[in-house]
Amino acid sequence: MGVEEKLPSGILLSTVEQAAGLVRKSSMWPATFGLACCAIEMMSAGGPHYDLARYGMEKFGATPRQADLMVVAGRVSQKMAPVLRQIYDQMPEPKWVISMGVCASSGGMFNNYAIVQGVDHVVPVDMYLPGCPPRPEMLMDAILKLHDQVQNTKLGTHRQDQIEEEEERRLRR
Ligand code: SF4
Repeated sequence: MGVEEKLPSGILLSTVEQAAGLVRKSSMWPATFGLACCAIEMMSAGGPHYDLARYGMEKFGATPRQADLMVVAGRVSQKMAPVLRQIYDQMPEPKWVISMGVCASSGGMFNNYAIVQGVDHVVPVDMYLPGCPPRPEMLMDAILKLHDQVQNTKLGTHRQDQIEEEEERRLRR
């Protein structure tokens, strides 16, 4: 009997998934995408005092094709929304989005025609971060919580599947 037959079924795949999750969460590269005052706190988190580099995240890339995390830091204007969506679409799968601050998450104090009332109208959001602005520690806490999600993301899971599942769930409510 070969080793594969002695192992419980699925053990090999789950080990590969665990390894892939570890690699993905240990080397997330955020896309540079600051929109307003929240971006200052995001930049601060990347500096030597808070040291995001210790999580393998020192590279804020200017090209979305080399990024797997979008931190939407600040209010999203209606004019910026299509640009944001285009950048998101250019990021390769798998990818994740953090909505940083009340403006990005719900429009915040900008309840008017010029501002998108929640970036989840434009891109799917994995983590919402409250505050105006959230401090760098809060962003890092959100990133660590996101790492847990990343670790448990199944191989081959496509974002579109998740969107369709979420949509179905919303319609059933
Ligand atoms: Fe600026 Fe506050 Fe809005 Fe962040 S949440 S973009 S700090 S007004």
